[in-house]
Amino acid sequence: MSTSPPSRRVSAAKRNGTVGRESKGGGLSSLFIGSIIAVVIAFLVLVTVAVDAFSGGSGTPAAAPSTTDTPTAAASTPTTAPATATTVPKQSPTAATTAEDGSIVLPCGNILVPLDKQHKLTADCAPTDLVTVKGGTQLRSEAAGAFNEMLAAASKAGFTLYANSAYRSYAEQASTFQYWVNTTGLAYAERTSARAGHSEHQLGTTADVGARGLELEAFEGTPEAAWLAANSYKFGFIVSYPDGKEGITGYAPEPWHVRYVGKDVAQKVHDSGLTLHEYLLR
Ligand SMILES: [Zn+2]
Repeated sequence: MSTSPPSRRVSAAKRNGTVGRESKGGGLSSLFIGSIIAVVIAFLVLVTVAVDAFSGGSGTPAAAPSTTDTPTAAASTPTTAPATATTVPKQSPTAATTAEDGSIVLPCGNILVPLDKQHKLTADCAPTDLVTVKGGTQLRSEAAGAFNEMLAAASKAGFTLYANSAYRSYAEQASTFQYWVNTTGLAYAERTSARAGHSEHQLGTTADVGARGLELEAFEGTPEAAWLAANSYKFGFIVSYPDGKEGITGYAPEPWHVRYVGKDVAQKVHDSGLTLHEYLLR
């Protein structure tokens, strides 16, 4: 599946900085006036850049790539950004806030935030402690340790599991959702894929588990899926979208999709009989 590289914008300072060089004056006075104008423009640009830098606080600059795992993408300059990227604030709030469209924007970094059709993360929210797990994708360090522990236990039970997809950046999720819209149509995509910002995969704690090359729908109904459903909570993972709960979670069953919440919380969710969605919102 193709993913879009992160959007990068040519800075206004860079573009405007070249303006002075291309002016062609007729005489000395026009050259002098042109020089003055160029100096004034350069000064205004510098002030603008300085104000931007300080108003950004401690967050990531808007032009920085939002992913940590696609260094080659930095060289390209795509002209289109994800369609929904402009609807969320650039900076993550420190507490949940309500956006203009009624969705709830969550603070970044809390692994226990509810993520659904209404709750979302900002575009710049990305983990900084990702490590690669079996299957070649990435999870946050603690979740990766628990994932490896779970895979070892599965192996003892005779099942060879791996992650066919784990961390996905906001931009990658935008591409993923669009892929499913193009492939299956909007209505089905809404049931089976999250819009950018709304995916548990952006947390870096969620993995789609595969086995024997069987991934996504092909994983459904396998003995591996049954093992995962019965045992994942012991390692801190919960199957987020169980069978028969689409009315609550908003998503069709995904027996392959597990989210790490820590062993204590996972045990409580398991004991409660609630979906993870209900437990986190209760
Ligand atoms: Zn998933």
